[in-house]
Amino acid sequence: FVSIILSLWCVRQVGYDANNVKTILSIGSDMTEKNRLKRELKLSDERYQIAMESADIAIIFVDKGGNVPYLSDVGFNLMGLEKNNSINIEVLLNRIHPNDRDAFISNILDCSNNLKQFSACEVRVLSKDEDFRWFTFKFKLINNPTTGDPCMAGAFYDINDDKEKDLRIEKLAFEDDLTGIYNRQKFLSVVKETLINAKFNNLRYAVVTLNLDKFHRFNDLFGVETGDGILKAVADIIKYNPYGKDCCCARLGNDEFACLIRLDRKEEHLEQYINELSERIKEFSQNQYDEMKLTISAGACIYMENVEDYHDVFERSIFSMRIAKNDPNKIYQAYDSSIKEMILKREVLEKEIVEAVEKKQFELYYQPKVDIHTEKIVGAEALIRWNHPTRGIVGPMEFIPVAEEIGIIDKIGLWTLETACKQNKLWQEQGLTNIKVSVNITSIEFYQTDIVGVVKTTLEQTGLEPKWLEIELTESMALVDVEETILKMNALRELGVGISMDDFGTGYSSLSYIQNLPIDELKLDKSFINKIALDDTTKNIISAIINLAKIIGLVVVAEGVEEREQFNLLKEMNCNIIQGYLFAKPLKKDEIIKMM
Ligand code: C2E
Ligand code: MG
Ligand code: MG
Repeated sequence: FVSIILSLWCVRQVGYDANNVKTILSIGSDMTEKNRLKRELKLSDERYQIAMESADIAIIFVDKGGNVPYLSDVGFNLMGLEKNNSINIEVLLNRIHPNDRDAFISNILDCSNNLKQFSACEVRVLSKDEDFRWFTFKFKLINNPTTGDPCMAGAFYDINDDKEKDLRIEKLAFEDDLTGIYNRQKFLSVVKETLINAKFNNLRYAVVTLNLDKFHRFNDLFGVETGDGILKAVADIIKYNPYGKDCCCARLGNDEFACLIRLDRKEEHLEQYINELSERIKEFSQNQYDEMKLTISAGACIYMENVEDYHDVFERSIFSMRIAKNDPNKIYQAYDSSIKEMILKREVLEKEIVEAVEKKQFELYYQPKVDIHTEKIVGAEALIRWNHPTRGIVGPMEFIPVAEEIGIIDKIGLWTLETACKQNKLWQEQGLTNIKVSVNITSIEFYQTDIVGVVKTTLEQTGLEPKWLEIELTESMALVDVEETILKMNALRELGVGISMDDFGTGYSSLSYIQNLPIDELKLDKSFINKIALDDTTKNIISAIINLAKIIGLVVVAEGVEEREQFNLLKEMNCNIIQGYLFAKPLKKDEIIKMM
C-alpha cells in the first residue's frame, strides 16, 4: 500500500455515459505535506504559547488609529483586564500610572516613526492586584499580518522586582540617610542637568545653599537624637518648594542644605522666599525648644545664560553663604560682582599661603603669661605671624582659617609646634627662667591627625620636657566629639603635656560641662575681660566662674587684660594668670628674653 494518505475527496456527480452508467468524477489531492506543515505550525504555536506564558510575556498590537487589534491572554491577565473587553489605547492608558503616560505615548510615537528598531520604556501599570507594578514595553513597527497595514507590535512583561531593587540601590546612593531628601551628589547631578536644559529653554534658576547657625548648641543641650530630629524637620520645611516641579532640595552634609529654584518671577522673590524659609525654621525651633531660635545663613547664585558651568554656580552660592555666615546681621547674601572680587582675592591668598609654607615665611611671636601675685612671667603663648613679602606682617586670623580649608594646616601646625618647643629648650639652655610654652591647635589638627604621636615625636626630637609644653584647644572644638576629645586629651596628659581650654565664654558650654574634660587650665576670653570693669553682671559671672574653676582644680588665666583696673579686679577674684597688653603684646623671640 502506499504511504500516501488521500485526505480529501471531492466528489461530484457529473452525468451518465452512453450506457447510461453513472459517471463520477473524483479529484484527489495529496495533503501529506500540508498536514505536516499544519502539525508543525500547531507545534510551533504551542511552543510559542508555552514560552510566552511561562515567561509571562504579553504580546500586543497597536495600530496607528490607537486601536488594539490583538492582546494576548497573558496581556489581559498582566494588565488586569477582562478578556472580553474591547481594548484600545485609552483603556491601556487608564491602567498606566498618570506620571508615566507621557513616556508610554512618546515611546509608541517613537516606534511609529522608526522602522525596524525596537523602542522601549519602563512604566508603572495597575496590575491585576490593583497595585502599580513596573513593566517594560517594547514596540516595533511591522505590517499587520492580516490587514497589511502598518502597526506597532510589541511585548511587555513585569520587571517590578528588579526595578524595585534598582530603585532601592539608587535610593541608597542618592538619598540622604537621615532626612530622605537628595544628597550632595544627586543634587549636583540634578543641577547639572537642569542648567544644561535651562540654556535651551531660556529659563532662569537659582542655587540656594543654607547653613544652620550654631546648630551644635541644640546637639549639646538636647542630645544628638533631638539634633537629628531638627535636621529632619528642617528638611521637611525646605522640601516645600513653591518654585516648579523641576526644582529640588538636598542635604549637603552636617547642617548644610541646598535647593534649586526656578526664577519665573522677579529676583526679589528669591529673597522673600529665603526670609520665609528662615522664619518658618525659627518659628519651629521656638515652639519646640524652649524659645531657642534656630537661624540660618543663606547664599544664592542665579544662573543666567552664558554663565560658567553648573559647578561655578554651586560654588558661588556656597561662597555667598559663607559671607552671610560671617556677618551676624545678614541671613542672606546673593552672589554679585563684589563677591567675585573676594573670590579672586581669596584664590590669590590660597596660592600665597601654599608658597609661604614652602618658603618658610612664618615667624612665632610669644606673649607672656604673668602670675597675678608675683607679676613674674610663668609662660608664653606662641602666636604665629606671616611675614608677607609685600604686605608686611599678616595676623593669624586672616590665614589660619584659609589654611584649614585648603588642607595645609597640619604643615603649619607642625612647624609651630617644633619651633615653639625648640625655642623653649634653647631658652632653658641659655639659663633663662623656665617657663611653659603654649601652642594653639586647630580642630582639624586635633581630630584629623595623630596629634598625640606628633607631640610625642616633637618632644623627643627637641629634647623639651613635656611639663614645659601646653596645648591650647578652643571650647567649641571640645564639643565636636566629646568621647574622642576626652580620649585624646587623656593621651596628651599621659605624655605629661598640659591642656588649656582657650576662649572660654565665647561658646555655649557651661563650666559643669567643662568639668568632665581632662584639662589643666581655663582661659577666660578677652570679650569677658573687656566688660569686667564696666558691668556688674559680667563681674559676678567671672567671679563665679573663677570660684568654680578653682574647686575643680583648674588654673584660671585671663586673656586680653589691657588695664590696671581689670588687673586689680581679677586679682581680688583670685584669678591665677594674666595675659594681655597691660604686660606685653606678643613679642619677638629676642624681645621676650628681657622679661624672662
Ligand atoms: P588666641 O589663642 O585666643 O590668642 C590670643 C589673641 O589675643 C592673640 O591674637 C593676641 O595677640 C590677642 N591679645 C592678647 N592680649 C591682648 C590684649 O590685651 N588686647 C587685645 N586686643 N588682644 C590681645 P592673635 O595673635 O592675632 O591670634 C589670634 C588667634 O589666632 C589666636 O587666638 C589663636 O586662636 C590663633 N592662632 C594664633 N597663632 C596660632 C598658631 O600658631 N596656630 C593656630 N592653630 N592658631 C593660632
Ligand atoms: Mg590661644
Ligand atoms: Mg584665646
